Amino acid sequence: MTDKQVRVRIAPSPSGYLHVGTARTAIFNYLYARHNNGKFLIRIEDTDVSRSDSSLVEPILDALRWLGLEWDEEIVYQSRRLDIYKKYAQKLVEAGAAYHCFCTREELEAEREKARGEKKAPMYSRRCLRMSPEEKKKRLAAGEQPTVRLKIPERDLSFDDMVVGRVSRSSNDIEDFIVARSDGSATYNLAVVVDDHEMGISHVIRGNDHITNSFKQIHIYEALGWEVPRFGHTPLILRPDKKKVSKRLGDKDVGEYQGEGLLPQAMFNYLCMLGWSPKTEREIYSPQELVDLFVEENFNASNAVFNEDKLIAFNKEHIALMSDHDLAVMVAPLLVEAGHTTKYWLETRWEYLREVVGLLKSRVRRVSDFVSLGGYFFDGDFTYDEEARIKQFTPEAGELLGELADAFEQLEKFDHDNIAEALSGLAEKREIKKAKLIHPTRLAVSGMSVGPGLYDLLAALGQLLVVERMRKAADYIKREITTS
Ligand code: GLU
Repeated sequence: MTDKQVRVRIAPSPSGYLHVGTARTAIFNYLYARHNNGKFLIRIEDTDVSRSDSSLVEPILDALRWLGLEWDEEIVYQSRRLDIYKKYAQKLVEAGAAYHCFCTREELEAEREKARGEKKAPMYSRRCLRMSPEEKKKRLAAGEQPTVRLKIPERDLSFDDMVVGRVSRSSNDIEDFIVARSDGSATYNLAVVVDDHEMGISHVIRGNDHITNSFKQIHIYEALGWEVPRFGHTPLILRPDKKKVSKRLGDKDVGEYQGEGLLPQAMFNYLCMLGWSPKTEREIYSPQELVDLFVEENFNASNAVFNEDKLIAFNKEHIALMSDHDLAVMVAPLLVEAGHTTKYWLETRWEYLREVVGLLKSRVRRVSDFVSLGGYFFDGDFTYDEEARIKQFTPEAGELLGELADAFEQLEKFDHDNIAEALSGLAEKREIKKAKLIHPTRLAVSGMSVGPGLYDLLAALGQLLVVERMRKAADYIKREITTS
């Protein structure tokens, strides 16, 4: 197996958007493929008509693309392969590895009820395995439509899991499960085995909720005489309250995080650390670094807890690593969408946008924070933060703002040092602390009480706007505060 090409896949069912668990499985498979120069494939498991919704396929693919998980071959859709599965179900019956079962729903329920009464795990009684060939023939000729059950051999199974090590299951614990329904359609386990075989899948990496399926699937591989892939069962992702991550409990899907200003590389990095670790102190890695580091020995078998605060902390670090230019490209449409500016305005002032992004970069946790924390760089139509306004906009501050605006207006060059000097000069002249000028000025030009270093902020905003906004604030104070 080791010298065989690595071919792995992700097999989402389109019954919802891409949730973090499936995204994490996709990332593991992608990294395993890239690290080993293999192929990463996608299969859409859309045979369950009652649960599948074809309109969800594109959003799932979009979310995978957004995470940078480019796949290598044409996508396989199970719904287009139903006849192939049927063929294999028949083949299993012909080979004697599976048999027709005529038991009705009611009969099976009665068996289960009995097992429950005896406090035993429900297992199919194999009643139809013992049915004579003549009787079977007669019932088929009469038009009865049986299911097909795999005949589990009396042999225990073990395999070396890539994540959890050696696992075993007694054949007594696996019933003769159904591989094809009475309408001839294949069940999940048969379809998966047929597809994984025909797609040449070498490694199946998926959540450990599939361990029982893996044992069932190995029985199918063996019945069909096919090579069994290697399995890796990763721990489940749990919520901080230790429940399984689930949409029902309000957990978000990948698309929602995208909409909230998360960077794909941060999501990629964080999810990768849930169930795998590079075994170093460092946590922040680019996708390419993770490709280089992704050795299977570093899977962790213990359950992983998804912590949104930690994800956001990863995001902050990844934002800080991005170039101002790349961030500006992401922020520009958000500013336009929020109505702070227009596309045309930004196109002619790209340098300004880059400078603003650079100033705010260390403060933002999400890409969308650039808009909420920096809208004033593009738009003077803001309100003053209420708490800061009460505290800072005193009659005295109003006068000082007017005076400082005059001093700023005189400056030949409106840069950090000259601004600092002008502000210190006024503080000295008036024998006041610089803070008495700094806080009202920040509030006057940005509407906020916090933000980047004031002198850099003012220099970026520019003399004209700064003076104009300070005078507007001085007027506001005179009008609203001094006279009331
Ligand atoms: N459709 C299955 C799931 O979403 C895929 C399981 C597998 O990888 O075989 O859980």
